[in-house]
Amino acid sequence: MGLSRSEQMARIKGKHTSPELRLRSALWRAGIRYRVHARTPVGRPDIVLPSRKLAIFIDGCFWHGCPKHYVRPRTRKEFWEEKLLANISRDRQQTLQLETLGWRVIRVWEHKVFESLDDVVFYIKNVLPGNGTESTDEWRVERVDVVDAGLDIERRVMVDLRNPEKRYSIDSRRITAKWKLPANVGSVGRKSRKQKKLTRALGC
Ligand SMILES: [Zn+2]
Repeated sequence: MGLSRSEQMARIKGKHTSPELRLRSALWRAGIRYRVHARTPVGRPDIVLPSRKLAIFIDGCFWHGCPKHYVRPRTRKEFWEEKLLANISRDRQQTLQLETLGWRVIRVWEHKVFESLDDVVFYIKNVLPGNGTESTDEWRVERVDVVDAGLDIERRVMVDLRNPEKRYSIDSRRITAKWKLPANVGSVGRKSRKQKKLTRALGC
């Protein structure tokens, strides 16, 4: 499916990525009203529900170290290691700072937006204000080392999003899994005229 000019521009700018649009559109259909990149005390999360003090981030599987889909690049090891560490530490700071200020933070993996969008929407819908203490383990790949180059075995070091002391490692064949697009994903980009108008009005 071709992209409209504004969608192309959005991609180039990198601000309105497609998992983000997909989640926003699903939230809108579910009757959840939000602001896009609205200012909070700690930066501008992807989706913000100011009245509920809820911040939602959509984290790309590669850039943020998804346990299932982070793929260790074969070249420029140090460059990618630093990049990943920097991203995880920024995610941690944003999350903890917002939570300290009484905000709820939901970080959604990019693959979940494609593979189980309904569950994500259900979860967001049912996160109530005041339940801020519940904390789930949110593992991220912090680094990947080569254990046996010949056999392509790697060691993935996992770290908890909130608590860097919590970590474990796992050895396996180099993981190159990609998230799968459901068959019907192409229809998501098509919006009705009314939806387009609403989207424009929201500044999406
Ligand atoms: Zn993933």
